Amino acid sequence: MGTVTILEETSKYPITLIGKRAGVCWGSDVTDNEKNYKRGMDCIKSNHGRTLEYVNVEMVIDGYSARCLREWYTHIGGMPSRLQASTRYIDYTKNGGFDYVIPPSIERNAEAKEKYIALMKSINDNCAAFEKEYDIPREDSAMCLPLGMATKIVDKRNLRNLIDMSHQRMCTRAYWEYRQLFNDICNSLSEMSDEWKWIVDNLFKPKCEVLGYCPEKKSCGRKGKLNE
Ligand SMILES: Cc1cc2nc3c(=O)[nH]c(=O)nc-3n(C[C@H](O)[C@H](O)[C@H](O)COP(=O)(O)OP(=O)(O)OC[C@H]3O[C@@H](n4cnc5c(N)ncnc54)[C@H](O)[C@@H]3O)c2cc1C
Repeated sequence: MGTVTILEETSKYPITLIGKRAGVCWGSDVTDNEKNYKRGMDCIKSNHGRTLEYVNVEMVIDGYSARCLREWYTHIGGMPSRLQASTRYIDYTKNGGFDYVIPPSIERNAEAKEKYIALMKSINDNCAAFEKEYDIPREDSAMCLPLGMATKIVDKRNLRNLIDMSHQRMCTRAYWEYRQLFNDICNSLSEMSDEWKWIVDNLFKPKCEVLGYCPEKKSCGRKGKLNE
């Protein structure tokens, strides 16, 4: 089970901040946070997307598979940044080997689960043997690490990017682990402040909710297709 830890650099009052920044350009009194909040809401409701980019989100995303985070990396709008746990400097063969994600379909099947766990152990044992018996550098034995291995990133992006991401990744067509990760992000951000809770409840939604129809070729049927 992965965890999302929101870092203190994350804007705590995102709607107020949006209004404060927009107020500078409108010659408004930006010392009054009640007015800033109201102005921020106006910006959001008017779809003034650039103002969303002042809201910073920094978080540690830990315990999700390398595969899931490989998909995370495709969301590049607004030039987000991140650091990822090293496969050169961290010794993943220590303490019983690397952690990994077990998909629910495998978890439910005792025989498949046994095979999956044995496979992960075999990869770990071989990585250890490469390093210890054959003196292979860790950066080379790391080529064997599986996509199911759990990893950790420190991520930094803006609200606009996250809203856009929600449209793709809250879609039932998205990979199950990514949907779970996005749900964990929603929960962690909602705990930050009421302003974040409003944003999560009202702006984070699958693309069919935004468009009013499903643009996916293989639809889940939640909304009709455009030509229906
Ligand atoms: C069901 C599903 C299946 C998928 N399958 C695959 C797959 O098989 N292989 C794969 O590689 N990916 C796959 N993806 C990922 C997908 O193709 C996108 O890479 C991912 O959704 C991120 O792109 P984005 O446009 O949504 O977000 P971002 O890259 O964050 O972009 C957000 C918005 O920012 C703007 N923007 C971003 N970059 C630019 C730019 N350079 N120039 C101008 N405007 C820009 C655009 O308006 C864009 O809509 C899949 C996603 C889903 C949900």
